[in-house]
Amino acid sequence: MEDHVTPRRVVIVGGGFAGLFAARALRRAPVAVTLLDHRAHHLFQPLLYQCAAGILSEGQIAQPLRAVLRRHTNVRCLLADATDVDVKARLVHTRRPAGGSVAVPYDDLIVAVGMRQSYFGHDEFAAHAPGMKTLADALEIRRRLYRAFEMAESAADAEERRQWLTFALVGGGPTGVELAGQIREIAGHTLDREFRTIDPLQARVLLFEGSDKVLGPFGEPLAGRAARTLADLGVELHLGTRVTDLDADGLTVEDRQGTTTRYAARTVLWTAGVEAPGSTGNGGSSSGRASSSRPERCWPTRRAPGPSWKASPPCTCSPVRTTSTRWRRRCCAAGSRARSTASARRSAATASSPPTSAGRSSSGRT
Ligand SMILES: Cc1cc2nc3c(=O)[nH]c(=O)nc-3n(C[C@H](O)[C@H](O)[C@H](O)COP(=O)(O)OP(=O)(O)OC[C@H]3O[C@@H](n4cnc5c(N)ncnc54)[C@H](O)[C@@H]3O)c2cc1C
Repeated sequence: MEDHVTPRRVVIVGGGFAGLFAARALRRAPVAVTLLDHRAHHLFQPLLYQCAAGILSEGQIAQPLRAVLRRHTNVRCLLADATDVDVKARLVHTRRPAGGSVAVPYDDLIVAVGMRQSYFGHDEFAAHAPGMKTLADALEIRRRLYRAFEMAESAADAEERRQWLTFALVGGGPTGVELAGQIREIAGHTLDREFRTIDPLQARVLLFEGSDKVLGPFGEPLAGRAARTLADLGVELHLGTRVTDLDADGLTVEDRQGTTTRYAARTVLWTAGVEAPGSTGNGGSSSGRASSSRPERCWPTRRAPGPSWKASPPCTCSPVRTTSTRWRRRCCAAGSRARSTASARRSAATASSPPTSAGRSSSGRT
């Protein structure tokens, strides 16, 4: 029989767009919500590449979940890594950041753990080519980008300089396209007249894509326009190519005719494909394998249906996308303002630690 005194316990796993909006939607519902995430912040992923480029600081794209939900009195935040779900016992098993485990009971469960970078079965590529899904990824990419120009400036010979000034991106989706253009912008504008030995504009940006167009799913007009804009910016497009090998010194690609070509590039970035986190969460140990397909469906307001964690796929439901677009407009305005602040660029270019946040920094709270 239902207990009408104790509110129903709703557990939300994941404080991304889906989890956050689920929590907000339940604001006035007579339920006790536990929002569980292994990061203390909500990350606005669409602006990750701006953070990677040093245009925005991490505090401008990440907000502590507790701060976002401080007025939602029926929501309690819990910093923990969900490792398993016992559907029969209605328990989410978690690992706490300082060690130890906690089982969180629920009446209703919402699983919204998002996606992670997929290397299509070549997880060994990750060490040499960071992806862009997390704040740590964006900061690592920023470090590698600006380091490359510094290394080129003091390179021993022309060949080494050329390798440092060659940037390769794998994957011509939105992230690859945005990032490729951004690197050319950095070379052409951000670093203007800052170096003595090199001309940053000589930086080659190579974008490799397996299909015959960039931004393929967006349709021909947009794909064509993106390709032309990239070409105008000086990005070299290599369509119909598949990466077969990748290491610290560059990558090998194969075209449709089976011809392999080696490109020497000291900075390789992975912007291709996502997959669902495996059953151990995305703490790096997931055994999930490559699959760029979308999750079959989401369970935003239902109880977990299946016998295991995998039975409740991650949520990328459409209300999230709609809202993200609305947010994006607001954030892009902030982005333009930041773009004009030379100090943000300088600190990004020179500091080994990231620039100070103009907003509330999340880094100290993760
Ligand atoms: C670089 C980039 C650019 C993008 N640009 C756009 C854009 O322009 N427009 C657009 O509509 N979309 C864009 N997207 C996609 C959009 O960001 C995602 O669709 C959206 O973030 C998905 O929301 P989500 O809540 O499902 O997952 P996420 O936002 O990924 O959130 C998942 C949450 O779950 C947590 N989590 C995961 N595993 C566990 C676990 N085991 N235990 C506890 N917590 C866990 C994570 O820490 C995270 O907070 C972009 C994505 C990227 C990476």
